[in-house]
Order: sequence, then C-alpha cells, then structure tokens
Amino acid sequence: MFVSLSLVHACVFATLALLVGAIRIGMRSESALSWMVAALLCGTTEMLVLSLAQHGESELLAATLLVPPAYLCFSQAVRISTGGKQNWRVIGTSIALVICSLALLAVRAPFVVMTMPFQLACALSLGDGIVHLSRRPRGWVDRALLGCMVVIATLFLVRMPLYPALFGFEVQYAEIMPTAFERGLLLVSALLTPPSVFLLLAKIIAGIITEYRLRSERDHLTGVLNRQAFEQAVRGEAPRGGAVIYCDIDHFKRVNDRYGHHVGDEVIRLFADVLAATGFKVGRLGGEEFAIFLPGNSANDAAGLAEVLRMHFHASTHAAMAPDHRLSASFGVADYGPGELPNEALIRADVALYRAKGEGRNRVALFHAFGLVPVVWQPPRAVAA
Ligand code: GH3
Ligand code: MG
Ligand code: MG
Repeated sequence: MFVSLSLVHACVFATLALLVGAIRIGMRSESALSWMVAALLCGTTEMLVLSLAQHGESELLAATLLVPPAYLCFSQAVRISTGGKQNWRVIGTSIALVICSLALLAVRAPFVVMTMPFQLACALSLGDGIVHLSRRPRGWVDRALLGCMVVIATLFLVRMPLYPALFGFEVQYAEIMPTAFERGLLLVSALLTPPSVFLLLAKIIAGIITEYRLRSERDHLTGVLNRQAFEQAVRGEAPRGGAVIYCDIDHFKRVNDRYGHHVGDEVIRLFADVLAATGFKVGRLGGEEFAIFLPGNSANDAAGLAEVLRMHFHASTHAAMAPDHRLSASFGVADYGPGELPNEALIRADVALYRAKGEGRNRVALFHAFGLVPVVWQPPRAVAA
C-alpha cells in the first residue's frame, strides 16, 4: 500500500512541480513559488526512492537527505507567502542537523540516535512556518494549512521520545518501518502532505491574483483608484442617493513649468493624500483631476467636506516651491437621488467644477440634482472660520 501511495505522491508532486515551475517562470519574481518548486522536487525524488527501495540503507540515506529540505523549502514558501522573508538561521540550523544525522549514519550510530537530528530538523523547519503563519492567519485556507502543518510537525516531535521508549536503542531502521506505530504515523503524514501542498499553492496563487488586481485598480503615482476602477466603484454602488466631488488643482501647469515635472508629481501626490485622508473612495480621473464618491451623503455635507479639503490643500506647501507660491484647487459638488445613477452626478460635478474655475478658482461650486445651473457654494460661518 505504501509503495503505491508513494508512487501516487511522486506523480502528484512531479506534476505540481512542473505546474508551479511554469507559473514561476511567467511571474518573473515570486520567490515563494521557487521555494515551493524546490520542496516539490525534493518530495518527488523522496517518494520515488520510497516506492523503489525496501527499507534499506539507500532509503534511509535518501530520507535524511531529502525529507528535511522538502519541509524546509515548504516552510520558507509559507513564510514568504505570508509576507515574511527567508529565515537563514532556521535554514542553517536545519542543514547542520541533517549533516549531523548523515555523520551519525556514516559512523553507524544506532538508528534511534542517528534519526534524532533528522526529526528535529523537520520539526524545526515546519515550526518556523507555523509560528509565522499563526501570527496572522487569514481565512480558512491559512487555518487549514496551519492545522496540517501542526499535525505533521507533531509527528516528527513524538518520534524522538517514543522510538527509544517503544523499541529501545538497538532497534534497526528496517525493524521499525513495518511496525503498526510507524505505518500509522507515515499514513497520517502521507494523507496530510498533499492537501498542505494544494493549500499552500492556493494561498500563493490567491495572493498573486489579489496583488495584481489591486495593482490594476490603483493609480501608480498616488495610490488612489485609477479612472477605470473608480468608475466601476461608482457604477457598482446601490442606488440609494449620495454625492460626488470633482476637483482639479489650479494653475498646475505653472507648477510644472516653474519647478519641473518631478515637483509637479509630488504636488499631485500631496493633493491625493489630502483627499484620501477623508476615507472615502477617491479616484484619479486625469493628470491633476480627482473625484471623491460619497454615497449616502447630502450635497451640503459633500460641499462642507470639499471646503475643508480646499482649505487644507491651500495651507499646504512644498519645500521646492517659492514661499509665496500658494497651492489651490477648485471643487465641483453634485448630488444624486435614490434611483438615480451616480455617473450623472459626476457629469454635473464636472460642470460645477468649471463654474468654480470660472468664478476665480480656489472655491467650491455646487450643482444640485434639482438645480438648473451650478452655484458657488458659500460655507456656513463655522466652516468659513
Ligand atoms: P486650471 O487651473 O485651469 O486647471 O489650470 P491648469 O494649469 O491646472 O490646467 P490643466 O488642467 O489644463 O493642466 C494640467 C497639466 O497637468 C497639463 C499636464 O502637462 C500636467 N500633467 C498631467 N499629468 C501629469 C502628471 O502625472 N505629472 C505632472 N507633473 N504633470 C502632469
Ligand atoms: Mg488644473
Ligand atoms: Mg486639469
């Protein structure tokens, strides 16, 4: 049964190694996948040896050389896919423990003694991944992976005291392998290892897809939503009424012309930071044009917020700019009623913005859903102060 299970595992691991390797090449840089390919190649070779050898010395040598690196690489992939880095201390210690086991094998030390550094290397490697993953498990995939890793690590740990306790110090490797105890432990780890591999692969691929999706939604200069993602967010909102703000930095060409495009870029970023601090969805719709989406808010609330943002940006400075150069932006606000599309409000807010520009810039104009033309918004006394 173990021979056939090992062969099945060898085929599964080899197929996955090919698949993950192909994804890794396509990704260019994704080190979690590299560690996973290494783990799968170690696992494939080990399973092939296990299915061919008959509890002989070659099998023991292959297990000592391949099993700890397989779990070590697996665990490093877990660390990296959870936002960590390689743990060189654990890598070094595991390699040292494997060398220790190989040295004990070479001097023909009793199997129970020889296997202890090997078991410790496996448990330590897995433990490192477990500790890292348990700090911030996200969702059921992480929890299931954590559960599998904890059980597999425990199997290595329990062997250390139980081998001498159950079989004494003189027992040979070939004598332990057929026992019900060892077969039980091997079966549990054989059943848990493939799901662990699939769970880790699912975790890594889900992480890559999420990262690419977020990157495709974000404007790379400012980090706020790009035009496409913002319009999608506006379209996807339930029609419950709300408001939008459209805004544009005043005389921005002068900033570029006077201080250079790199300063212009930083001013755009500064403006985006001011807008993003509101916590609402913010989109960069063009060069220095942005929009804020405020579902469920009234036109007056949105205009009040726009006025606060206007004052905040007007008080901002940039170290490269002349002290008397005051930054400013104009804001257009529009609301939409329940059942109305927010996109229509976005068009009205754009019209309001141009009213604000036409009236001299550095101000807020409001275009009510029921209004005929936009009007310059006069802040109540409390806001104006
Ligand atoms: P107004 O007050 O009427 O808005 O005047 P303005 O000078 O801001 O006019 P306009 O909106 O037409 O100018 C936008 C300029 O922004 C033109 C373009 O060269 C510049 N721009 C667009 N994208 C970027 C960018 O990513 N970085 C920098 N530095 N400049 C940009
Ligand atoms: Mg402008
Ligand atoms: Mg503009």
